[in-house]
Amino acid sequence: MKKIVLTALLLSMLTWLNAMADDEMTYSPQHTTFSVTTLGNARNVTLRLYSRGEGGEVLQSISMKSKRLKDGNRLWTATVKGDHKGQFYTFEVQNANGQMQGETQGIWAKAVGVNGKRAAIINMSETNPAGWNADSRPDIAARDLVVYELHHRDFSIDASSGLQHKGKFLALTEPRAIEHLKRLGVNAVHILPSFDYASVDETRLGEPQYNWGYDPVNYNVPEGGYSTDPYRPEVRITEFKQMVQALHRAGIKVILDVVYNHTFDIGASAFQRTMPDYFYRRNADGSYSNGSGCGNETASERPLMRRYMVESAKYWVDEYHIDGFRFDLMGVHDIATMNAIRQALPDDIFIYGEGWAAGGCALPNEQLGMKSNIAAMPGIAAFSDEMRDALRGPWDGDDKAAFLGRKKGFEESIKFGIAGGIEHPQVDITKVNYSKAFWATQPTQLIAYVSCHDDMCLVDRLKASIPGITLDEVIRLDLLAQTAVMTSQGVPFMLSGEEMLRTKRGVHNSYNSPDSINHLDWNNLERYPQVMSYYSGLIAMRKAHPAFHMGSADMVRKHLKFLPSSDGLVAFAITGAKEVGDEWNNIYVALNANNAARNIEVPSGKYTVVCSGGMINSCCGLGTTSGGKVSVPAQSALIIHD
Ligand code: CA
Repeated sequence: MKKIVLTALLLSMLTWLNAMADDEMTYSPQHTTFSVTTLGNARNVTLRLYSRGEGGEVLQSISMKSKRLKDGNRLWTATVKGDHKGQFYTFEVQNANGQMQGETQGIWAKAVGVNGKRAAIINMSETNPAGWNADSRPDIAARDLVVYELHHRDFSIDASSGLQHKGKFLALTEPRAIEHLKRLGVNAVHILPSFDYASVDETRLGEPQYNWGYDPVNYNVPEGGYSTDPYRPEVRITEFKQMVQALHRAGIKVILDVVYNHTFDIGASAFQRTMPDYFYRRNADGSYSNGSGCGNETASERPLMRRYMVESAKYWVDEYHIDGFRFDLMGVHDIATMNAIRQALPDDIFIYGEGWAAGGCALPNEQLGMKSNIAAMPGIAAFSDEMRDALRGPWDGDDKAAFLGRKKGFEESIKFGIAGGIEHPQVDITKVNYSKAFWATQPTQLIAYVSCHDDMCLVDRLKASIPGITLDEVIRLDLLAQTAVMTSQGVPFMLSGEEMLRTKRGVHNSYNSPDSINHLDWNNLERYPQVMSYYSGLIAMRKAHPAFHMGSADMVRKHLKFLPSSDGLVAFAITGAKEVGDEWNNIYVALNANNAARNIEVPSGKYTVVCSGGMINSCCGLGTTSGGKVSVPAQSALIIHD
């Protein structure tokens, strides 16, 4: 009796898993099985097989069989005998009122044809590059990360890159790319949307097309535009894996930018065509809520959307060995879902997001993954706009300056960022911009940065906000800004190309700007060698010295001590650094944005100067000082230690 009950229970669990798991298509050489979940009142689902990813005749049209699930939804299945590898398929749901929803590749497509309109029947195990089974995630703790945010096309498209696979995943497998990243010293590459998105037409890749890719079509398939052949479904999968493998071999993690908060459109989305109106939030008046600013927002709090996000993230980790996720507009998702994702993934997977939304959401703020709610999301980090805007100026006006432009009153917000957003007795939260409370419980919950793909890059912002600025000043302030980022107890993050003194020619929102705006100019490495040299020296210093990334709020409160600030000057000490395993003992850092030297007061002693006046040498030092009054040159950082 007991055994029968257990078997029944097991069977019902399997049915449930089958219903919800990511298995809309299961291939074998003998037969291929299809399954799709719809709302309970769907009348019919038609499965169509095609020989091509677009166009061409229907090979077979099959009416799927269904059964009702415990949650009221309906599971539709069909098994097609024979070997169908290389074919494509769609589902079409007929809803309760008899209306056909339109063909869809399904919400769980893992391989697709060109432009992602039809899913593909492939044998996933055949997509692995040689040596893939030996690939593993580099062992780097969250507190040790230095993140580099990159768009595939920006990075490699210009002739000056010397890279062969321009605008492709494979560019990141080439020695010149890998060597550059290693020389810079970053140990995590955050790739802008690399799942299959809509805004680049994969049938016209010979023509210049540009988009950041925040317009998801297939969440679980790599983008075809970054592959060498978007028509052959296995190519993008294999090339994505080759990219991950090459970066992992170099000890670099791969972080995926995920955009579960909205879809490119509603009507043609796989979500809508499979389960009409289930996956989207609506306002009280019935209209679609638009917290994404892109016309819709998904409903993460609904069980199937929550499960979808959890399973999708797990899939990228398992199938593609992804090391972390950057959640676009995390403030659109509910806290419980973010925590469910955190719990479902291994501890070493790094998760962070934008702790805001782009408009009002149809869910109360207290339930959303907002920056102010980070304490309720342990192990998840958020971008800090406090230090970013305190350095470069506010988000609502490119011509507005802040600390770097010698505007007064931003020192406390920079201190907030240096301390990693945790409660610190010397940071006066009432003087911090935006936040009225310390929001991080651990410093690894704060992403420290001064620029990212959004808004102007750093050089352009300095030029736009500081009238009459000279090139020399641009470089000095650029290096000063990144010193604040790289000496923050938070997790440092930089936009790719800043090490090449990147310019987007003043374009604020370059999401679809041409290559002439977005490309990196690799020639700048030779034009401005001091920039790359400083960045790599700064990152090397951070990585070699645990004092700069203690990783624990208690340790930060114990060892990080701010010196008195004055206008345009922020200074701090990390005392007793040996206790956190550092070979240095007391470290002093001063950030001087003034166009004249300023003094700081440190105890008398014997100090080595490792950074001064736009030069850095953390291994051997630049000179010595005996303490007391120490001069910090104009528009630059000073770092000394004993
Ligand atoms: Ca695409």
